[in-house]
Amino acid sequence: LIVPALTILRVALDVPLRRVFDYLPPLTDGTVSIGARVKVPFGSRQLVGWIVGLADHSTVSPSKLRRATELLDSNSVLDAGTLALVEWTASYYHHPIGEVLAAAVPRALRTGSILNTYEQRWRITPTGRDALKKGLVNRAPKQQALLQLLLTHNYLTATALQQFHEKWQPLARALTKKKWLEKITHAVIETQSTVTSPPLGSSEPVLTQEQRHAVEEICKTLQQFKPVVLHGVTGSGKTEVYMQVAKHVVANDQSVLILVPEISLTPQLVARFAERFGVAPTVMHSALTDRERLRAWQHADRGQAKIVLGTRSAVFCSMPKLGMIIVDEEHDASLKQHEGGFRYSARDIAVRRAQQTGIPIVLGSATPSLETLYNINTQRYHCLTLSRRSDQAPAPRLQLIDLKNEHQFQGISHSVVQAITRHLQQRGQVLIFLNRRGYAPTLLCTACSWLADCPSCDAKYTVHQSAEKLRCHHCGNETSLPETCPQCGYAVKPVGRGTERVSETLRTLFPDVPLVRMDRDAVTNRRELESALNEVKTGNARILLGTQMIAKGHDFPDVTLVVILNADQGLFSTDFRAAERLAQTVIQVAGRAGRASRSGEVLLQTEYPEHPLLKNLLTEGYSGFAASALQERAQAAWPPYSHLVALRCSASQAKHALDFLNTAKELANAPKNIQLRGPVPAAMAKRADKYHAQLLLESTQRRSLHQFIDDWLTKVDTIPQIRQLSWVLDVDPAELF
Ligand SMILES: [Zn+2]
Ligand SMILES: [Zn+2]
Repeated sequence: LIVPALTILRVALDVPLRRVFDYLPPLTDGTVSIGARVKVPFGSRQLVGWIVGLADHSTVSPSKLRRATELLDSNSVLDAGTLALVEWTASYYHHPIGEVLAAAVPRALRTGSILNTYEQRWRITPTGRDALKKGLVNRAPKQQALLQLLLTHNYLTATALQQFHEKWQPLARALTKKKWLEKITHAVIETQSTVTSPPLGSSEPVLTQEQRHAVEEICKTLQQFKPVVLHGVTGSGKTEVYMQVAKHVVANDQSVLILVPEISLTPQLVARFAERFGVAPTVMHSALTDRERLRAWQHADRGQAKIVLGTRSAVFCSMPKLGMIIVDEEHDASLKQHEGGFRYSARDIAVRRAQQTGIPIVLGSATPSLETLYNINTQRYHCLTLSRRSDQAPAPRLQLIDLKNEHQFQGISHSVVQAITRHLQQRGQVLIFLNRRGYAPTLLCTACSWLADCPSCDAKYTVHQSAEKLRCHHCGNETSLPETCPQCGYAVKPVGRGTERVSETLRTLFPDVPLVRMDRDAVTNRRELESALNEVKTGNARILLGTQMIAKGHDFPDVTLVVILNADQGLFSTDFRAAERLAQTVIQVAGRAGRASRSGEVLLQTEYPEHPLLKNLLTEGYSGFAASALQERAQAAWPPYSHLVALRCSASQAKHALDFLNTAKELANAPKNIQLRGPVPAAMAKRADKYHAQLLLESTQRRSLHQFIDDWLTKVDTIPQIRQLSWVLDVDPAELF
């Protein structure tokens, strides 16, 4: 490839502007490669950017075109596949490519510091070989000797060259000028054991017929884009299917990327893969240090990591020999980044990546999202079902407890107390789910009706009894727990129940039964998580009480009774996805009950036993629920039957946020097939001292919606107040407030 004399570098910078920037190449020697890092002046600052393209002319006037300061890499650090994925992501989410790159690559690569794991190497160029052959260097014997030396080596480092000649540097400079020699920055490969394919059939369990069928189907076409949904009930052995298909990919000398929604799920999967493959997968998640993250990235980038297991941002991990992607718990809302400026769905990007790479992708879940089920119905995705538990245990029985007709003790009904007693007597374990942490969601004065409100949010403080604090779960505010009403001095009382209070109640009801509580207050780090899981696993703990933390992925083989204390909030939410989430939670939590010989029992306490969603779920299970939920979505033209984009804005005054969104709406001039709804204040308008509002865009035609947004955003960018406000565009929002 001949690079024209006046090459323009197209550079992506981590700045909040939806464009790339043109620079002249630096005056220093070196090869310009797409995907390499470059240091450039930006205003009065020096920034590290990525070369994402080369051009022979720029629209920037020559007098204003600035020159890059330094090339940081002579080879591409981002492979073409990763760069293409990042470009697609930036365009689909209408987000600055520099910020997408910032989210995609390890911090240590972005800062541009010369990394210890990189070294400078010198090598002879093809013209250098020619020159040597033609005798063009004969008159400079020292230079000739240096080239001769490099001819017999692939490359030499500075240290090696120093040994060859103390004054090698001027020689190298002269040769580089003639383009007979080049300097490259090369990643140093750290020796680390790599996954090798285990001998076929070694220590593998016998597959059920459904598992075997799934493995065969997925492995039929390994080298082409084929989205497969692995719809497997809890306990049906999805992980075993993942491991068996991964084995085939690894045997092809390719690698597998596995995405999970939460860090807490990684240890269990890592352990199982490590046991089967003889070496641990490379792990990527936000709890790694910069250094660890960089090492994991490089390991994957060089193809040494045969299996990469990670959370959201691992979807961008550079893997040149990627052969398959697996997304576990594909329905999980945590796969969507729904905070901060860059909001993306790791699952959706994974599907795109599989398509770009031409490889299969497996989306696994016991409760597939309605979007995914829709894609099955429209034959975009192929569905493989694991309807039976691999241990042949019968499905647990789900039963509703009508709270209106039952005696209760601190929110626990008589039937539930009896069931817990019975299961404990039969040496079963009991799991109790309540998706609300803290002691009580409200603190109330019994005399003057004062409520403990968070001053920064439209929300109540949550009572944390043992910490003697009031905490806001929305902004993190904290204050000490008052003993009396600050308004009238009368007694205050906690109203409602969180896991902390329920654990107190259970200790009163079952004083001799060891209990483990798992929520973000009781379990704050990985060590505590492992120790809590271990208490349950060994049977030391007989009652397990927790929030979402216990609903996801973990295996509790001796749990025979599952109690869902209260899920009623989900029945009446204004968010159109609330019903789906509630159904998924109920099925996921219920799935923890019963294994092997012991059949399980699931009790769901509710004030609304007649609610159609609950009745539907009870009689027809998740698939029945999903079918009728999809009908409702079709009637209301909600996703997946339409596409949504939310423009969200927050400001220190409600008026400013709404004014901005109204101006944006006026600028829209949208075609008929795009509806703009709002703007409306958020359900919780004030949060963390800011007022939040949103404008919703809806269309049944994705392509025209996205084309419109491209055009519209350039107008939105011109709104004068834009610099004083904080706003984000949320494409395919997972939550509507
Ligand atoms: Zn009072
Ligand atoms: Zn707050």
